[in-house]
Amino acid sequence: MVSSPIGIFGGTFDPIHFGHLRMAEEMAEALDLAEVRIIPAGQPPHRDAPATPAAHRLAMTRLAIADNARFRLDDREVRLARASYTVDTLADLRAELGHVLPVWLLMGADAFLGLPAWKEWRRLFDLANIAVAYRPGYALLQSDSLNAELRQELGNRLVSEGGRGKGEGKNPGAPHPSPFTLPSSPAGSIRLIPITQLDIAATDIRARLQHRQSVRYLMPDAVHDYIQANELYSPA
Ligand code: ATP
Repeated sequence: MVSSPIGIFGGTFDPIHFGHLRMAEEMAEALDLAEVRIIPAGQPPHRDAPATPAAHRLAMTRLAIADNARFRLDDREVRLARASYTVDTLADLRAELGHVLPVWLLMGADAFLGLPAWKEWRRLFDLANIAVAYRPGYALLQSDSLNAELRQELGNRLVSEGGRGKGEGKNPGAPHPSPFTLPSSPAGSIRLIPITQLDIAATDIRARLQHRQSVRYLMPDAVHDYIQANELYSPA
């Protein structure tokens, strides 16, 4: 049985790109994760349904992570016939993994700021820790977009600005972050992890493809080749 912490990384991955992959890689390193479960959403409740069928999003994700021993594709949300909610996915995982293993829910600062709109969002803290990837020097606690209740949770649950030691995260030129030395609790804490900023978004990739523009070097070649072979995101 796995005893090191595991990471859970959900998204629509329509398509998966280097922003996602690098974020998961740096989080895995900073939190010393034994495994990162990549969980493509089936029918995301908080946004429009992904235009791309789940089978393609799964196939692209599988190709993207094939050479990473720590990343594992988990298709439980696309197997559901109904909308998938993170709180239910985590409860499902807890039923399999037990309640002792530290679990880290990985997300970008944009996703974190939207947390109060998620189903039973406070219950997420009973089920997992949350690691927020953010731009070094970005003052998340001071953000105008931070809802008051979430600010309170963040204030109570924030463990440390991880990876580079207190304050060093503000220096984007700092040397390689070392893994956390603090042990992870099974659930309930929040850590902010400064990561390399790759300003890549799936929305932008889809728009470029719609306009017959290049998307090479924004994602692994295997994903790029898959998009071409299956004529995904082509102009109508
Ligand atoms: P879209 O543009 O369609 O909204 P996206 O590229 O933002 O897609 P999602 O699948 O919505 O990707 O995001 C899944 C998770 O990945 C979220 O937690 C989001 O914050 C994070 N994420 C997305 N893009 C990046 C990026 N470039 N760097 C770091 N994290 C990212």
